[in-house]
Amino acid sequence: MATLVNGTQVEVVQGDITRERVDAIVNAANRSLLGGGGVDGAIHRAGGPAILEACRKLNGCDTGEAKITTGGNLPAKYVIHTVGPVYRDGNHGEPALLASCYRRSLEVALENAVQSIAFPAISCGVYGYPHGDAAAIAVKTVKDFLNECEGLTLVRFVLFGRDIYDVFNNALARSTSEPS
Ligand code: ADP
Repeated sequence: MATLVNGTQVEVVQGDITRERVDAIVNAANRSLLGGGGVDGAIHRAGGPAILEACRKLNGCDTGEAKITTGGNLPAKYVIHTVGPVYRDGNHGEPALLASCYRRSLEVALENAVQSIAFPAISCGVYGYPHGDAAAIAVKTVKDFLNECEGLTLVRFVLFGRDIYDVFNNALARSTSEPS
């Protein structure tokens, strides 16, 4: 599924984000920024030690914030590390924190002249965010940002599994049939 939002291409694809040929990929990191499992582990494995070396200088990252490093050996020039909320019950600030991850990542992208960016499903792995809710927040936050800020040509959601790909695809399709 793909659509244009205020001139920016927004896409949902299934795949491995470490293979994305975009200016920046987003990492669903943890607060230490010193590596972990899931997409974080995959990014550090594929990108090599330069990413961890850069992360060590950043002093961690708060939940809902984002920090940028080199992409090391990845096809992407940069990795934007963001820390999603651990999902408890949805009443502990999780929606605002998840939205902040997407918004802050996009702001950091623009500050670094990034034009194309790929996101994984932040918090949708071990952090346990319900996929439908997370997808709706991801799509809405990205669309709201693009309607306010110029400079990006492509925002791509890269989902690892078929089920979550369908969830994000449906969220984007639904949002295009609603007035923004
Ligand atoms: P979090 O701790 O924020 O929940 P995870 O890394 O556990 O982060 O999971 C986030 C999402 O990233 C999950 O949907 C997971 O399946 C997905 N994922 C894992 N590896 C990759 C990859 N190589 N490319 C894209 N998505 C990935």
